[in-house]
Amino acid sequence: MKVTLISPDLQSTHFKFTPKEVKSFWFAKLTLPHLAALTPEDVEVRLIDEAVEPINFDEPTDLVGITVNTYLAMRAYEISAEFRKRGVPVVLGGIHPSLYPQEAMRHADTIAIGEAENIWTPIVRDAQKGRLQPKYASQEYPSLQDLPLPRRDLLKKGAYLTTNTIQTSRGCPYHCDFCSVTDFFGHTYRCRPIPEVLREIETLNLSRPLVFVDDNIIGKPQYALELFQRMKQYKVRWGSQCSINLAKHPELMKAARESGCVAMFIGLETIDQHNLNDVHKGVNHANAYYDAIKRIHDHGISINAGMILGMDHDDESVFERTLEFLEKTRIEYATFHILTPVPGTVLHQRMEQDGRILHRDWSKYNGGYTVFRPKLMSPEALEEGYYWTYHQFYSMRSILKRVFDPGIEMFYKLALNLAYKRMIRRFPHHDLPEMAQVLQTMNGEVHAIPEVNKKGLIPYTIEVTQQTMRNVGETMDRFLRIRVHQHHRLQALFVELTGVLNGISARRLRERIAYALQRTQWDIILNFEHVQFATARGLQSFLPPYHPAVRIKCLHVPRHFREHLERFHQGIEFIDQADDLLPV
Ligand code: SF4
Repeated sequence: MKVTLISPDLQSTHFKFTPKEVKSFWFAKLTLPHLAALTPEDVEVRLIDEAVEPINFDEPTDLVGITVNTYLAMRAYEISAEFRKRGVPVVLGGIHPSLYPQEAMRHADTIAIGEAENIWTPIVRDAQKGRLQPKYASQEYPSLQDLPLPRRDLLKKGAYLTTNTIQTSRGCPYHCDFCSVTDFFGHTYRCRPIPEVLREIETLNLSRPLVFVDDNIIGKPQYALELFQRMKQYKVRWGSQCSINLAKHPELMKAARESGCVAMFIGLETIDQHNLNDVHKGVNHANAYYDAIKRIHDHGISINAGMILGMDHDDESVFERTLEFLEKTRIEYATFHILTPVPGTVLHQRMEQDGRILHRDWSKYNGGYTVFRPKLMSPEALEEGYYWTYHQFYSMRSILKRVFDPGIEMFYKLALNLAYKRMIRRFPHHDLPEMAQVLQTMNGEVHAIPEVNKKGLIPYTIEVTQQTMRNVGETMDRFLRIRVHQHHRLQALFVELTGVLNGISARRLRERIAYALQRTQWDIILNFEHVQFATARGLQSFLPPYHPAVRIKCLHVPRHFREHLERFHQGIEFIDQADDLLPV
């Protein structure tokens, strides 16, 4: 009997790696070699990874097994149809058929639900007897003890950067709403015995890098610590995936680095704590990111940040803010994803209930398309911003800013960034969406006082004493900070002003407001609550000539500021306190 195991791949989209790209910086997936190792010895096995070789549908075979992720489901169904047309029975397995079995059953002779260890041999034996059942479901989460050595020898030679992919654990201790890991592996976190992992490492070509394909290699920190400490002897370079709480374990970071860890993929997901709360990513704390990233970097470990765009608190400023954060923290690599409600996840259920799913073309569920209705921007703006962010992050300007740091590792980081840059080049080019450009132009810090000059300053709080005024030189801001949010319900730009509004900063603010008035019909709400000082000239000149079609409201303006404003700006509306003006 001959079994053909297939890993489908994207067909001619700009997301598909070329064979050259796979060879220069990608690794072989472990699923097929592992399935081949589970196949009874008397059965001949052939592996086809569509990322590196085409499928010959006419090559004789007795059974086809296809591993299916959601975004490749359509392609898997096409492949299945071709083989079934030729009378070859097809088994579909993996995450998508397991979490969405009804659909998969319509495209195969049988489906395999759950992990393969307990069901693959019965499937092969039943196929030999011509008695395939329509469905095989694993009744338990298998132990990871005594797993056979994956059949890496069956992978296409010379096609990958490395075939040293290896797994130490399955599952993740967390359960984020958008992730299918815990839904597929159950609320379990299972580890292989460390001696077995080490024995497997010893069979590999250690001159090539090693990739641990765990979903979270530090799910059990004590296990990971022992593994890393015992790996030091091999002097190999390796990378994996883990959660940001790695930064809480100095000993673990040290052991990881000493055992050869050069980079970790870490799902930071979003820089907004409200978003993290929404998707129940409790392991991440946005306000601790700077510190956590610095600690990991200080241990010599690079970060490939997984970033999701389009969550419910993301307006069109998210692209620029995310880029700014990644550059400030000098994140070495990043992969961006448009939020994707993968079937079987909590997020998918929620979006389905809320009627926000736009379509079910699974080939668009790869993180590069908007398949749901975003809350604070249009689906088109989300895609444009996604491409803009990718191009900006892998621009030479950004690469140098993030990875320029004399040292041997810099060349490695630079080379990998340039490889990404070459790949990103074929992505569509987009400007920032229009509103994002407005936000980008308005946000920032403008100079207010070239030198300490207290003349004419009017404090926000009139009770400020003469003594305080004499001391302001030491304490006052010399800038006006302008932070703008979109207030969607009111269709208004909510402008927070902080610092000093004098003639110099007012001129810059006026230019920005004028730009916004030209580019958008939205109202403008200026919040004066954090204006530390103003001058009469600043208060008189910060607005462009009044535009009757647009309403300008000023919030939290003290009476002594208001006198100046009323004298020079007719038609401004003043608001003292209004809860519904809080930015969203
Ligand atoms: S921490 Fe990562 S792997 Fe674990 S559930 Fe969340 S997204 Fe998935």
